[in-house]
Amino acid sequence: MSVARQISDSSARREAADLLRSGELVAFPTETVYGLGADATNETAVARIFEVKGRPRFNPLISHVPSTEAAFALGQADARAEVIAETFWPGPLTLVLKRTAACPIAWLTSAGLDSVALRVPGFSVARDLLSEVGRPIAAPSANRSGRISPTTAAHVALELGDRIPLILDGGPCDVGLESTVLDLSGATARLLRPGGVNRSEIEALIGPIELAQAGDTITAPGMLASHYAPDAALRLNATTCQMGEVFLDFGSTLSGEAEADLSSSSDLMEAAANLFALLRALDRPGVTRIAVAPIHLHGDPESGLAAAINDRLRRAAAPRG
Ligand code: AMP
Ligand code: MG
Repeated sequence: MSVARQISDSSARREAADLLRSGELVAFPTETVYGLGADATNETAVARIFEVKGRPRFNPLISHVPSTEAAFALGQADARAEVIAETFWPGPLTLVLKRTAACPIAWLTSAGLDSVALRVPGFSVARDLLSEVGRPIAAPSANRSGRISPTTAAHVALELGDRIPLILDGGPCDVGLESTVLDLSGATARLLRPGGVNRSEIEALIGPIELAQAGDTITAPGMLASHYAPDAALRLNATTCQMGEVFLDFGSTLSGEAEADLSSSSDLMEAAANLFALLRALDRPGVTRIAVAPIHLHGDPESGLAAAINDRLRRAAAPRG
């Protein structure tokens, strides 16, 4: 079982910051819900989030930072982002912005996208923790996949107590609702998720915003900004490399011929950590098809992180509209 310590205790925050910087997971309270935090710049630490939650999908995660200045070093702010940040940060609102050139956020954190989701939480001791860590912290809700978001440390302990080394307790969350997610990465502002800040409050500042359609993401993989897809075609479950293909291996099935290996030792956490960066590296001009070896855990393609990796590969391989 993990230990729960008070987030108001500065020695507990220091311990949490040390764990986070060394790639471990720590649950911590924000004003919205309790988050399962990992160093957002560390691909392996972020892969651990998906493993611990048992998530069957890699969706992009929100990175938490202590200040607007820290956020705008990671995401490109325009006049809209500035006025929104001025008004709602710190608070229950997340901005999706284009990555800055120097943005160190891991590709797994953004699910391969060129945009990043950023939030400055309202709970001040959570910001103290973030300042202490000195790196953006990726944090989805601290529950197992498919369960409701926890709003007390006791909920987190029930959900994940046996899987993480430390839970910071800050009492019950004030808002108890997830953050509003506003996408300002394109010319049209889009509301991706309703939450703690109302649509009308946002529209009063920047004018009409579009609502993302619930069905958007499934019908057209690769067309919508919320799914990364390479330019090259993908051939999945490949056991040989055909003419004109580059081969992305898993577990050294094609020694010699493969251009890269997601994990030569068939370690799914390593494969998850490498997935988006390797797809991006192989998807270079002139490459028309990437063949990908079967991804599985002891033969099962739907077990553990294999399910999330295969889900993402299937979406990336689906015909584009
Ligand atoms: P959670 O971390 O579970 O609170 O959920 C994060 C929310 O932000 C999800 O609805 C994501 O789809 C959304 N999100 C995070 N990053 C991005 C991004 N780069 N582009 C689009 N949506 C994002
Ligand atoms: Mg959640």
